[in-house]
Amino acid sequence: MIFEPEMEMMERGGLEEVQSARLREMVSTVYERVPFMRERYDEIGIKPSDIRGISDLWKLPFTRKSDLRDTYPFGLFTKDKKDLLRIHASSGTTGKPTVVGYTAGDLEIFGKVCARALAGGGAEPGMLLHNAYGYGLFTGGLGIHQGGETLGMVVVPASTGMTERQVRLIMDFGSQVLCCTPSYALTIAREFARQGIDAKEIPLRFALVGAEPWTETMRAEIDSHLGVRSVNIYGLSEIIGPGVSFECTEERHGSHINEDHFLGEIVDPETGAPLPDGEEGVLVITTLTKEALPLIRYWTGDVTSLDHSKCSCGRTLVRMAMVKGRTDDMLIVKGINVYPSQIEQAIGCVRGLTPFYRLLVDRSGTLDRLDVEVELSKEVFEEATAEFLSDEVVEADKLLREIREEAQRSIRENIGISARVILLEPERLPRSEGGKAQRVVDTRKVLVS
Ligand SMILES: [Zn+2]
Repeated sequence: MIFEPEMEMMERGGLEEVQSARLREMVSTVYERVPFMRERYDEIGIKPSDIRGISDLWKLPFTRKSDLRDTYPFGLFTKDKKDLLRIHASSGTTGKPTVVGYTAGDLEIFGKVCARALAGGGAEPGMLLHNAYGYGLFTGGLGIHQGGETLGMVVVPASTGMTERQVRLIMDFGSQVLCCTPSYALTIAREFARQGIDAKEIPLRFALVGAEPWTETMRAEIDSHLGVRSVNIYGLSEIIGPGVSFECTEERHGSHINEDHFLGEIVDPETGAPLPDGEEGVLVITTLTKEALPLIRYWTGDVTSLDHSKCSCGRTLVRMAMVKGRTDDMLIVKGINVYPSQIEQAIGCVRGLTPFYRLLVDRSGTLDRLDVEVELSKEVFEEATAEFLSDEVVEADKLLREIREEAQRSIRENIGISARVILLEPERLPRSEGGKAQRVVDTRKVLVS
């Protein structure tokens, strides 16, 4: 189902006209009402009248997360505090949190773009939505909640944590759609398995997961263990929250950006130059309709690529590839760029391993060392344990050695880096209770100073 076909299926020429008109207005508003931005534009000699349409977008400077921090809390807002209906904020792991605000108009759009995403993911009016995104300052919970209501769904505001209870609620209520982070979807799947509930008995049919990078390996796990067809939903609080882009169940190949509201570009991470379709770079987004906090050319830091080719679902909205990582998640190990998701993909195809892993980066002397801790699947762990117990130590050892060597070879061949793989028993690594999984422990930074 397509929630707003008149916008989601608009032909490109018409869409670009809408985008250009909205961009002109946005730039004038920001110039008039945000002194911080006006000063920046004046400094480089840009006037709102220089921007006639989206083809002039490249003339505008980027807005960065640091700009939001430097003007904390409301310095980039175009509206008075009293004209807002809601404020959200990022957790702010490094210093001040990022604060975002919404007018009534912003909230209406927030609901609609999330409804588009839910519909794209298979949800329909009347279905039960089990929403296990965190409610609170994080935009995920309330954003999806509003999207579900806008679509006409029955929303169960489960929020995160207490996984045992989540499973009971899904079973008792017969929820058909699940929304949460991909790592939490796996945690829920584990809890179903622990309670001996088979995927066929789980009422869920669709899952929209996002808010952290994930991979096809994780998708296969989520689909098979929960008995769903899962799709990606992408967003960031600075732009609106979830609903910036979403995958359709038809293709599940790239997330359609809600381009009438959010104009996406891919730029070179070093030079900032725009890149063509298919080339990987940093996603930069301009909000076209936001009232309280419009952002022009916002540097998301997310690494992806765009695809304007036709989609079988009928939407004409451009698709962005699964985010590979954030530029600030990227590790440089032995001079090679490594994203955690690449490691996940490399170990994902090895039999007996799970998507639960952690990267440990260390330096001895001047040499970087990368260790990959990864949990064994329950089946292989039990097989090895049984062999140990029946004194077939040689067999057990051989089994584990083969898995480890294959994982190391896969990492070497796919990423071009040598790593030491450490096999762990199932459930050994800390689990995220709805939050984002801690994938990297880099102890080199401590040694540098
Ligand atoms: Zn599609």
